[in-house]
Amino acid sequence: MRSDYEAVIGLEVHAELKTATKIFCACPTSFGAPPNTHCCPVCLGLPGTLPVLNRRAVELAVIAGLALDCEIAALSRTDRKQYFYPDLPKGYQISQAETSICRNGHLTVTAEDGAARCVGIERIHIEEDAGKLVHEGNETLVDCNRCGVPLIEIVSRPDLRGGAEATAYLKALREILLACGVSDCRMQEGSLRCDVNISVRRSGEETFGVRTEIKNINSFAFVEKAIAYETARQIGVIENGGAVVAETRRYDEARGETVRMRVKETAEDYRYLAEPDMLPIRLTDSDIARLRAQIPELPSARAERLEREYGMTAENARILVSELGMADYFEAGAKRTQYPKLLVNLLLSELLRHCEADPFVSPIRSEALAELADLLGERTVNSATGKKLLSRMLTEDISPRKVAYDEGLTQITDAETIGAWVDATLTELPRAVEDYRSGKSAAIKSLQGRVMAMSRGRADPIICEQLLLEKLKSGDKTI
Ligand SMILES: [Zn+2]
Repeated sequence: MRSDYEAVIGLEVHAELKTATKIFCACPTSFGAPPNTHCCPVCLGLPGTLPVLNRRAVELAVIAGLALDCEIAALSRTDRKQYFYPDLPKGYQISQAETSICRNGHLTVTAEDGAARCVGIERIHIEEDAGKLVHEGNETLVDCNRCGVPLIEIVSRPDLRGGAEATAYLKALREILLACGVSDCRMQEGSLRCDVNISVRRSGEETFGVRTEIKNINSFAFVEKAIAYETARQIGVIENGGAVVAETRRYDEARGETVRMRVKETAEDYRYLAEPDMLPIRLTDSDIARLRAQIPELPSARAERLEREYGMTAENARILVSELGMADYFEAGAKRTQYPKLLVNLLLSELLRHCEADPFVSPIRSEALAELADLLGERTVNSATGKKLLSRMLTEDISPRKVAYDEGLTQITDAETIGAWVDATLTELPRAVEDYRSGKSAAIKSLQGRVMAMSRGRADPIICEQLLLEKLKSGDKTI
């Protein structure tokens, strides 16, 4: 991006709430059912039906608001937002326009220059989702299973300045919603979606430029790419003497471009009216206190604590809190080992690629992994044996300590025993000894390999290397 311009970005994030049933009826919200099997007269908006508000949806919206430091409205109302789409059989969506349940929150993320940036949350409101259009060949089919699934829309202030920052904000938001049980945030299932509002201005200018909105982006990578493309496009328009038009665009993933969809709707287009079928939503102080008590330790605080308590890197701590259940798994194991740093290394560099994500499920019990960390920490087994044990643990529920002793895999640290193997190796491989002594220091690898093979992988590699170096440097020509 040109340094004489800056992008001004605000995000609108839609998150499906993790309720068992829809927001105004008892239909299930589960994903993946055959089309049009989770519908009833209420969520289809048939004449004569009336909505009944799902208490849990309101509670989850309040929990999200509290976790994002919002003010919670004691009284808010719902509004009818009218638009005609084939996937919205009611012809309107019940949302909140005039009032919203939560306002004036914030979320602090790390900006592109490494500084902390406080991103304002303008409001969070509840609304119902629309259905889905399915395109098959020349036909377009309507699936109403998603009609009436509860959503919150989280509207940020235009406080973000680039794609990386926007992604950092989205990731932090996702972690919070996951940790609080507000949403399962499955972008691939559409339960977390993001609209990007973006304008550009010359650096130092106070007023905002004309903004465009990029609709319904469903991956973090596409958010960043769409922002990069749209920023460059808007700067190009201005530099060529044109004017940016307020419009709704979409991100074309295949072409890597944003494409115009329609001129942006205004509030008038939606003909909002106070929803006549709904009572106002009232929340008492004790309701709010009860919900505040349901908020767990938030991911950023937890990452800081993990870093402090277990002496791990900030990067590792961030990874542990990024997936629901992974930090719990780590902490369950960490309680049982003297070597939590080894545990986190085993988890992140060896085990993680074999685990299921979203939510995190490990094929190895946390107790067993903790036992392996102890074996390595105590130097009962060396790292090569540790890897072998771990790969067995992926498919068999074994105690690595028992197997190490039963099968004679424990590490040999006795210098005399290893020394004998070292002497035998030096005699056996005179060529490598010569190479090493003439300056080819990599030759020590083949010598080490031979000693380890003689020990059937059990020698302590550190002692092995020490003894080899001692003998090689002693200049003893007899070996
Ligand atoms: Zn229904």
